[in-house]
Amino acid sequence: MPRTTILVTGGAGFVGSHFARAAMDAGRQVVVLDDLSGGASSSLPSSIPLIVGDIGDVQTVKKVCATHGVGAVAHFAGKIQVGESVRHPDVYFDINMVRSLALLGALRDEGITACLFSSSAAVYGNPQHVPIPETAQCKPVNAYGATKLAFEYALEAWEHAYGLHWAALRYFNAAGAHPEGAMRECHEPETHLIPLAIDAGLGSRPPLTVFGDDYDTPDGTCVRDYIHVLDLASAHLGALALLEQGTTVGPINLGTGRGYSVREVIETTGKVLGRAVPYVMGPRRAGDPPKLVADPSRARELLSWRTERSELTTIVEDAARSRQPSDRPKTAESVHRH
Ligand code: UDP
Repeated sequence: MPRTTILVTGGAGFVGSHFARAAMDAGRQVVVLDDLSGGASSSLPSSIPLIVGDIGDVQTVKKVCATHGVGAVAHFAGKIQVGESVRHPDVYFDINMVRSLALLGALRDEGITACLFSSSAAVYGNPQHVPIPETAQCKPVNAYGATKLAFEYALEAWEHAYGLHWAALRYFNAAGAHPEGAMRECHEPETHLIPLAIDAGLGSRPPLTVFGDDYDTPDGTCVRDYIHVLDLASAHLGALALLEQGTTVGPINLGTGRGYSVREVIETTGKVLGRAVPYVMGPRRAGDPPKLVADPSRARELLSWRTERSELTTIVEDAARSRQPSDRPKTAESVHRH
């Protein structure tokens, strides 16, 4: 069997499911491996096979690769909450490093030489300057960022030792949703700003708590660079094309280069919903850098990448459409196990 299928770990999650669908729409064969601890089977079209399993289970990974003719992997599976990573670093190092290394070992044994990795701007910690280029110092300030950076080091070592071609896509703030509203950001518990602000505005959650307004930023609240999940997906496909031609991409920022404060997000969300988002001011959240804004020049040049839906209003509109109660995807009655 020709090895052309893309194994998408964490493909039932937010970014992974949007990538899996974009890859399928681009004509690629895709197989998802997800333990459903964070994602939901309902976030995937039924035409995409879903294996419910653990990325650290070497036998399962090898079997999936052999059975499905896997030639490349997009590794999205992992823990993603900054605050939780500060409280429970053991879980973060276990999943994002130990089990992810087991996955890498299995891929090497299967002869797979192309790996896209879902990394994060959290690798930079508290940057000296924004916008941040890939060459900036990496000094994570939370366990989440530390595990992402550690895995990037592993990828680099794998390149030298085993010829792996890799890309570590350093997302700034992934947000938005597929414009049809069929897929959405769905974390349990939800901790991310845009979905929480929308839900607070829609009245389906309590008022939003703003985590600190005493930062050294223009309005005192943290500044982030929000990037639409479909723009992330297109960058992954561009990077994968290079890996499959035998080029290593390495670390690459995915952001817009424009930051918005928490207050600006609340205002935009209020405008999109046509009603003010209720919020209360709270203390800072541990591990939050004041400002994270990408310098996306490298992605623009190397991948010829252009963002198409990452204007903040579009991001919030797409996310809001996916969160209207009547549009929510139904919980899948059955998980399609293969
Ligand atoms: N934030 C907030 N209230 C919330 C959730 C998030 O004020 O309920 C802030 C958070 O402190 C950060 C920004 O919104 O400055 C984006 O946080 P999010 O968790 O969405 O993404 P992160 O930047 O942690 O990846």
